[in-house]
Amino acid sequence: MNSGDFQPVSGFDLPRFAGIATFMRLPYVTFEDPRISEVEIGLIGVPWDGGTTNRPGPRHAPRQLRDYSTMIRSRNGVTRSKPFELARCADLGDVGPNPADVQDSMDRITAFYSKVVDAGILPLSAGGDHLCTLPILRALAKDRPLGMVHFDSHTDLFHSYFGGFKYTHGTPFRRAVEEGLLDPKRVCMVGIRGPAYDFEDRDFADAVGIRVIPIEEFHARGVEDVMAEAREIAGSGETYVSYDIDFIDPAFAPGTGTPEIGGPNSFQALEVVRGLKGLNIIGADLVEVSPPFDTSGATAFLGVTIMFELLCVLAECKARKQAA
Ligand code: MN
Ligand code: MN
Repeated sequence: MNSGDFQPVSGFDLPRFAGIATFMRLPYVTFEDPRISEVEIGLIGVPWDGGTTNRPGPRHAPRQLRDYSTMIRSRNGVTRSKPFELARCADLGDVGPNPADVQDSMDRITAFYSKVVDAGILPLSAGGDHLCTLPILRALAKDRPLGMVHFDSHTDLFHSYFGGFKYTHGTPFRRAVEEGLLDPKRVCMVGIRGPAYDFEDRDFADAVGIRVIPIEEFHARGVEDVMAEAREIAGSGETYVSYDIDFIDPAFAPGTGTPEIGGPNSFQALEVVRGLKGLNIIGADLVEVSPPFDTSGATAFLGVTIMFELLCVLAECKARKQAA
């Protein structure tokens, strides 16, 4: 395929600190641009943290991640993947949320992603807090449930907060199962840990058949074994990947609202994404980077590096399906 017009700007041609920062230095293509019909993978910002229950800030993440994404180059040094040669990728810009209204913001996000789906574009999103995954799934899974591999220190499966409020970043996957957007038997959650108020979320997971791999099991078994199980659970059906940056130990990713001690290091954080290879992935997101708590910028840099690994598996999946 010819992806010549959709190559990222090379640091050999223009130094990486120069120019307008788009995701990974890709062209910025809106739905008003005729090139939109050629785009195969869209990188999208969701600058919204209206679901945050504790320390806010991920509304600032897409802009910060675009800036740090100028550090990314065109090829994967470990897997040798060349995502920009496998698929035409573009920055589709930001969804414009309404920071004062949770329901209105979710409707706007679903409307935007419905256009993405109708255009046949696979989305790679930068949140936002984890509630933004729910309105994304409402667009992507509107006619059949998806499988999901979910990296996080939290299940985000709670019923409600603050006296029955059902839409926070601790509840998106409870809603997604209730709304038929996820097939719970094809959902695997990796890295769960931390002290808890109660285990109502884990009881729900057990009741509907969601596989939760807690952090102590992750460390005991290792990345390769855990990801083999995750691939088996997701199977060959269409699968979404949701990556909460608080999956990673706060020593490596301190810039997030709800950190939990004892997580994977930054190398393991990339290895788990490489372990998704072979799955039928139709979209992915990286959420919960909070620039106000990311004083060194290390969390944003790790976040965009994870987005690049996600892009590599997404582009390889796309190319494999086109070749079949
Ligand atoms: Mn989460
Ligand atoms: Mn989390």
